[in-house]
Amino acid sequence: MIAQESIEQLKSIVGPNNYADDFESLKNASSDYTEDLSFPPELVLFPSDAAQISEILKLCNVNRIPVYTRGAGTGLSGACLPVNGGIALSTKNLNQILNIDTDNFQVTVEPGVVNQHLKQALEPHGFTYPPDPASMGSSTIGGNIAHGAGGPKAVKYGTTRDYVLNLEIVLPNGDIIWTGANTLKNSTGFTLTHLMVGSEGMLGIITKAVLKITPKVDHELLMLISFDQAETAAKTVSEILKNGFKPSGIELMERNGIDIVLKHKNLQFPQTTEDAFLYVARFRR
Ligand SMILES: Cc1cc2nc3c(=O)[nH]c(=O)nc-3n(C[C@H](O)[C@H](O)[C@H](O)COP(=O)(O)OP(=O)(O)OC[C@H]3O[C@@H](n4cnc5c(N)ncnc54)[C@H](O)[C@@H]3O)c2cc1C
Repeated sequence: MIAQESIEQLKSIVGPNNYADDFESLKNASSDYTEDLSFPPELVLFPSDAAQISEILKLCNVNRIPVYTRGAGTGLSGACLPVNGGIALSTKNLNQILNIDTDNFQVTVEPGVVNQHLKQALEPHGFTYPPDPASMGSSTIGGNIAHGAGGPKAVKYGTTRDYVLNLEIVLPNGDIIWTGANTLKNSTGFTLTHLMVGSEGMLGIITKAVLKITPKVDHELLMLISFDQAETAAKTVSEILKNGFKPSGIELMERNGIDIVLKHKNLQFPQTTEDAFLYVARFRR
């Protein structure tokens, strides 16, 4: 249980309207997309900047209060769930794209920016941010980094890990540090930036991210290839790559998965008995 005095101090750090302790809010923060898990926190905080997060972590560190960072709560491994109670720290208010620098092929964003919103903001500049987890319409950049998320375009463009240049993080003792530099050629010291990628909120809280961006790709071709067996489909991926063909995106769809989606969405698919499909995308760049 968090002492009442600490609760009042935490509330005053974020200010009115930026905390919640009603039943609905605690319930919402108790789960993510992982099946059937529910661990309610005692308090949900919505800080607005790194300075507030620093104050929160200092207080929680001294008073041994567990802190669980939460993006959009779309994770599939229960990583943001408050398994020991304490605080759910939401990045909902840290949702600004701070700088789009097309000359240096990079953007600076706050962690609560939704992946798809970043892509949309880059479009008028003729740029894109390639990492494409299927949850990109709702998941946040902070969550993507903490999960090292990737999608079908990983085959050509890589995953989130390949796009993180530098991070501002708040350490568990409240110190605020940058992990690297905003340059491609950075050979100094440990690669702390990549230590944070995939760390699932355990090492610190990301409060700013400098990400690489690329010129926008033009769509050229999308193929759906059917197979009698899923194994043959999987082997074909290696054959495609061995033959020097570099798709921009590739994804295996199994019959069972397709049938579940069709039923759920009440959709029809051409009558086929194939066991698996590959969809293969090819872009100009
Ligand atoms: C329908 C669906 C499709 C998906 N498809 C893919 C896919 O194709 N590829 C893939 O890789 N994954 C996929 N995922 C899982 C994916 O990794 C997550 O959706 C996404 O990366 C999590 O982002 P989030 O904002 O929801 O983070 P949350 O679920 O809220 O949190 C995830 C982790 O990130 C930590 N975290 C969040 N913000 C910060 C921060 N600012 N600082 C430090 N830690 C932080 C949390 O503590 C937690 O450990 C999918 C999930 C769903 C539901």
